[in-house]
Amino acid sequence: MFTPAAPAERIHLSAPHMSNRERESLLSAFDSNWIAPVGPALEEFEARVSSIARSEDAVAVSSGTAALHLALLVMDIGPGDVVLCPSVTFVAAANVISYVGATPHLVDCDPISGNVDPESLVYALATLASRGHKPAALIAVDLYGMCADYTTIAAVCNRYGVPIIEDAAEAIGATHAGQPAGSFGTLGVFSFNGNKLVTTGGGGALVGPTELLSRARHLAGQARLPVRHFEHDAIGYAYRLSNISASIGNAQLTRLDSMMNRTREIYGRYLDELGPIAGVSFSSQAENGLGNCWLTVAHLDQSLHPTPSAVCDALAEHNIEARPTWKPMHLQKVYAETGRTGGRGSEAHYATGLCLPSGSSMTEAGQSRVIAAFTSALEAAPVIDIADRIELTDELSLQHQDSRATTS
Ligand SMILES: *Cc1c(COP(=O)(O)O)cnc(C)c1O
Repeated sequence: MFTPAAPAERIHLSAPHMSNRERESLLSAFDSNWIAPVGPALEEFEARVSSIARSEDAVAVSSGTAALHLALLVMDIGPGDVVLCPSVTFVAAANVISYVGATPHLVDCDPISGNVDPESLVYALATLASRGHKPAALIAVDLYGMCADYTTIAAVCNRYGVPIIEDAAEAIGATHAGQPAGSFGTLGVFSFNGNKLVTTGGGGALVGPTELLSRARHLAGQARLPVRHFEHDAIGYAYRLSNISASIGNAQLTRLDSMMNRTREIYGRYLDELGPIAGVSFSSQAENGLGNCWLTVAHLDQSLHPTPSAVCDALAEHNIEARPTWKPMHLQKVYAETGRTGGRGSEAHYATGLCLPSGSSMTEAGQSRVIAAFTSALEAAPVIDIADRIELTDELSLQHQDSRATTS
């Protein structure tokens, strides 16, 4: 009898990694009937998050985006303010600036790490200062779980008196100079969205000093005052995380170190086995810190290899999910007219970057499949005619004609 080969199991970019611990924690919250906002699991979750970020306080909310929005609100950032934001990021970091009616100014990023390029930051601050603008904040993003270079960035921002909001949505557990992700700004943000390293199904947290966070907690709960009737002293939001979601998060956080050990191992194996291929490179771990390796990003030399998108197609044929890196904000229709400094580094990051499956639940055998499929995609795919490449690059640079040293 003919039995067709079973299709290879799907390998996701970063699948939620659940265990019996999450199941038990969830059922115990369920059985206690603490389902909706607030409850003991939520309080425990906030304590765990603030201990990981070594912050005074933490507020658990419904998404990382909500946490970023609250950060701007409690720092009184609004219409008339300019907020710096890296061009390479998930769109939420730029959108929250628009939510509060402030104006984003995009800074350029490192072509390999994708984190804020300190030189572009210096140039942006100097140029804006010469025009009489002092940005209300910098939203610094810890891309793919690697902290930005806060040793440099914080010194630069201090010099100009610009506070930092750390978007550590992707970076829980990472460190820089002996300090944890989330602790580098006036406020820090985490996301617990379904595809992040730690997930509550959907959720986020804001960390920082109690003075600012008590206001954030208030706004997240519809700004309701603690009286019997419904009294509200501001325009608030329905942003609280549910006790049920927090119960999953508590179990996840007890496993953070082991999940992170695994994602770091996965990164190490990609580096060992794919790093030697000519024209393939990876961002290195910083000398003075460790990323959580949420996603490993491979960079493909454009003159030697197919585009990241073509490699994604080839991997998809093997039932493997891969994705291009975040498309820069200045190349998005909604932020094309936004003021910015430079953009070439961000464009290079996007043109060469490919996110490889990195979930902590991926097996050795699964990673072997990814490595084999990736290698054969590079070997099999015809290298695109160099003339096409040049045309593509020209098109990009014509649209965005400027160098790092141009502020518009
Ligand atoms: C995921 C993410 C967010 C938003 O988090 P959500 O929980 O999806 O709202 C913000 N910034 C960055 C850099 C992210 O990766």
